[in-house]
Amino acid sequence: MTDNSRENSGTNSGTHSGTHSAAPLAATLDALRAALGDDAVRVGAEIGERALTDWTRHDPTRPAALLLPRSTEEVSRALAICHAAHQPVVPQGGMTGLAGGAIARATDIALSLERLSGVEEVDAASATLTVRAGTTLQAAQEAAAEAGFELALDLGARGSCQIGGNLATNAGGNRVVQSGTARDQVLGLEVVLANGDVLTSLGKMVKNNTGYDLKHWFIGSEGTLGIITRAVLRLHPRRAARHTALVALDGYDGAVNLLRRLSTRFGNDIGAFEIMWPDFYDFGVKLTGTRSPFADPHPLYALIEHAGFDSGDDGERFAAALTDALDAGAIRDAVIAQSVADARALWAIRECTAEFPVRLDAINFDVSLPIGEIGAFVDRCRAALDRQWPGNVAYFFGHIGDSNLHVTVDGHSLAGVEHHAVYAFVYEMLRPLRGSVSAEHGIGLLKREFLPISRSATELAAMAAIKHALDPHGILNPGKLF
Ligand SMILES: Cc1cc2nc3c(=O)[nH]c(=O)nc-3n(C[C@H](O)[C@H](O)[C@H](O)COP(=O)(O)OP(=O)(O)OC[C@H]3O[C@@H](n4cnc5c(N)ncnc54)[C@H](O)[C@@H]3O)c2cc1C
Repeated sequence: MTDNSRENSGTNSGTHSGTHSAAPLAATLDALRAALGDDAVRVGAEIGERALTDWTRHDPTRPAALLLPRSTEEVSRALAICHAAHQPVVPQGGMTGLAGGAIARATDIALSLERLSGVEEVDAASATLTVRAGTTLQAAQEAAAEAGFELALDLGARGSCQIGGNLATNAGGNRVVQSGTARDQVLGLEVVLANGDVLTSLGKMVKNNTGYDLKHWFIGSEGTLGIITRAVLRLHPRRAARHTALVALDGYDGAVNLLRRLSTRFGNDIGAFEIMWPDFYDFGVKLTGTRSPFADPHPLYALIEHAGFDSGDDGERFAAALTDALDAGAIRDAVIAQSVADARALWAIRECTAEFPVRLDAINFDVSLPIGEIGAFVDRCRAALDRQWPGNVAYFFGHIGDSNLHVTVDGHSLAGVEHHAVYAFVYEMLRPLRGSVSAEHGIGLLKREFLPISRSATELAAMAAIKHALDPHGILNPGKLF
């Protein structure tokens, strides 16, 4: 066994708040082994590659130790020991995050939730699923489906990301336009606080006005306020009739008009409304080896899902709406998937982002702006990037129904340009629009310095006060978010 010594300096930036009176690492690890067992405390080469960095591939760093607790009780014991020792702890879920939030420094202890997994209960009467934090999103979706329900949360990383990570980042994904973000799926939450206290509010009630709704402090807090160990998630009636269409459009205004047109006709049955600008669409088509169903290129593409309950005539009504839009000149062309395989092939184009880390030197943005302003922003952003770095390659796409635009700039096309310069350049464009530097991926490590673009000094001070109240020694995910 090789111990990383505390002298190993972390390569991530960020302050080690509260570690001035830290206990020696070796003593802390001994206490952790005594409390959790040798098998749950890994050091040195025993720590697998998975724990070194997240999906950003940013700054891989071997933490001082990796903890693998099996229960809430063990998480509680671990945090009580680390709190007393002023030892920083970084919660790790599925490591699919896109903000560097789960990357530990060499002096941090990483705590993985992977052993704390499994669905505990599906309560059909309450329409709830009680799940442990380390359960993958896909496993939770499957459990819901087996019981005849649907978990509304869905995103491309579903096979690897965990419910705890989804809640800690308040993940968005493909169905926000219909059912809201991860936050909207939560009825109850269990969290272990920095000092090891277990805050359990695993209620299944929809209404509960008994003071502060504490769960919302932890959802979206990126592991800085507590470690999520269990959750009660809301289930929805299963929308068994899904129909997917790919639509070619004249431009952004046409996309917004189509969204409004379809929402007026189908209300909440529009399950996804994803926009792809041609650079992204062409890249996705090429990467997936599919053939574009359209003979000609178009200025914009929308991937639309109608998700209803009536397998009898939902498909016909959706097709009729698109035919009406075509007749009215609101769209240029459309294809509707005729089978599950067809639908998967269309979704594969949109979900080619899973290949970005492999194919690109990806500089990712997930910004949000008022829906009406996104089209003009894309034009301005593209023109500004071209002026600044002629020859740059950038991809634009997004969950437009939820005001969320993604931009990925390929660093390979920007020889000698630091990623940081590109981040600063694009984020500065949001300032006058009061846009958000993170619609869904969170702040983590990579966007920390840009947070003030989206949050006022008063908001930041309130966040810092909450952080200090819940984690006075600053041991939980230090250097992230703030
Ligand atoms: C192909 C792909 C597609 C994606 N699509 C989307 C998308 O559409 N929408 C979207 O929002 N995101 C998307 N993401 C980003 C990512 O999947 C989400 O942020 C996801 O919610 C992260 O979950 P995770 O378990 O992997 O968390 P991790 O990456 O392990 O951690 C993320 C953050 O949460 C904290 N954390 C993890 N578990 C816990 C816990 N139990 N308690 C407290 N803190 C914890 C970590 O410390 C870190 O700060 C995508 C990623 C990929 C790779």
